[in-house]
Amino acid sequence: MSYTEEVYERVVAQNPGEPEFHQAVKEVLDSLKVVIDKNEEEYRSMSLLERLVEPERIISFRVPWVDDKGVVQVNKGYRVQFNSAIGPYKGGLRFHPSVNQGILKFLGFEQTFKNSLTGLPIGGGKGGSNFDPKGKSDREVMAFCQSFMTELSKYIGADTDVPAGDIGVGGREIGYLFGQYKRIRGLYEGVLTGKGLTYGGSLIRTQATGYGVVYMLDEIMKAHNDSIDGKTFIVTGSGNVAIYAVEKAQQLGGKVVAMCDSNGYVYDPEGIKLDIVKDIKEVKRGRIKEYADRVEGATYTEGLGIWNIKCDVYLPCATQNELPLEGAKALVANGCKYVVEGANMPTTLDATSYLMENGVLFMPGKAANAGGVATSALEMSQNSMRLSWTAEEVDEKLHGIMVDIFHKADDAAKRYGMEDNYVAGANIAGFEKVVDAMKAQGI
Ligand code: GLU
Repeated sequence: MSYTEEVYERVVAQNPGEPEFHQAVKEVLDSLKVVIDKNEEEYRSMSLLERLVEPERIISFRVPWVDDKGVVQVNKGYRVQFNSAIGPYKGGLRFHPSVNQGILKFLGFEQTFKNSLTGLPIGGGKGGSNFDPKGKSDREVMAFCQSFMTELSKYIGADTDVPAGDIGVGGREIGYLFGQYKRIRGLYEGVLTGKGLTYGGSLIRTQATGYGVVYMLDEIMKAHNDSIDGKTFIVTGSGNVAIYAVEKAQQLGGKVVAMCDSNGYVYDPEGIKLDIVKDIKEVKRGRIKEYADRVEGATYTEGLGIWNIKCDVYLPCATQNELPLEGAKALVANGCKYVVEGANMPTTLDATSYLMENGVLFMPGKAANAGGVATSALEMSQNSMRLSWTAEEVDEKLHGIMVDIFHKADDAAKRYGMEDNYVAGANIAGFEKVVDAMKAQGI
C-alpha cells in the first residue's frame, strides 16, 4: 500500500463518523500521490502526512444562552486549530444545525491549503456551532454570540487565531462577537475579520469571496481563449458568496438565470435582478421563493434540480456536497464548460471526477473561494498598521491574489504533467508551502 493510502486508511479508522473529513483528506491525498511518491522516504521518516491530517488542537465547549421565552438553551461550540505552520490559525465560524466536529475538521483541513495558496501568512482553522440562526430574534442571536465568545475568547487573539464569518455568521454576528471579546479581554485588536467598517473592517471584505470566484473564472477562461461576456450562469445558494459572485459575473457581462436556497430554486430567463435578491436575503433575511412572487416571468421550483437548467458556467456557492453525480451528468449533457466552486467542497468526489473526465474545467473551492480569507488577511494587515486602504486598493490586491492562485495551481499541474487538472494543481501548490514550513520548524 502506498504511503498516501496508508494515511487515508488511518484517518478513516481513527476518525469514525466523520465522512466529510474523510472525503476532504481523500481528495487531497489522492492528488498529492505524485509528489509524495517522489519524497516518500523523507516524508515517512518525519510522519509528515500523519501530522498534516491531525489538527493541532480542537477546543470544544458548551454554549448556554437564554431564548426570548426565558428558557435556557444549550448548543455545542468548537474551534478547530488545524495547522499553524505558516501563520496564526485563520478561518471562519459556521453557525448551522449540521455543524459537528467532523464537518469543522474537513473545513479546517481545507482551510490550511486554501490559506497557503493565498501567499499570505495565515494558518488553517475553523469553528462554529450547531446553533441555527434561522428564525431567531436579533436579541437571541446576540445572546448566543456573547455566550459563544465568552468561552472562545480564551483561545483566540490577533496573533494566535483570527476567526471570521462563514455560513450563518455575517456582519451582525461578527459585531456581537467582537463586542464581547473586547468586553472580556479588554483588547481592541484585529481578533476577528469581516468586521463593520466603523470598527476596523476592510472595504471589499463583504464582496471578496464572490468577486474572487469570478476573478478566478475569468483567469481560467482567459487561459482558454474564452471570456465571461455573454455566457449563461447558474449560481447556487443565495448567501454572501452567491450574491457577490452574481454581482461580479453581471458586471463582466454574464447572464445569471438561476439561484437557490436549501428549499428550492428560482429561474429567471431574463436574468436575475440582484437588487431584489439582496433585499430578500440581506435586508429581510427571507427565502429565495419570494423572488418568484416579486418578479414577473420568474419561476420557483421546490427541491433539488437547479443543475437541469442549461448553462455555460456553474458556480456552486451553497454548501458541501450540494452537487452530486446526477447533477454533474445533467451539466455535462447540457454543455456546461466551467464549474468553479464558491462553497467549500460543494461537489462530491464522483461528480468531480465525472466533470473532469468529460472536459469541464473545474476549479476547487480551496483555490476559487480563497478571495474571502485573503481579504481577511488584508483586513488583519490594515488592523496591524492601524490604517485603512481604499476599496480600489483592496480590490486590486484581491484581483492580483486570485490571478496568482490560478497560476500557482496551473503551474503545479503542468509541472506534474496534469494540464488543466486544477484539483491536483491547487492541492500540490498549497501543500508545498505548508510542508516546507513544517519541515523547517522541526517536530
Ligand atoms: N469562511 C471563509 C472561508 O471558508 C472565510 C474565512 C476567513 O475569512 O477567515 O474561507
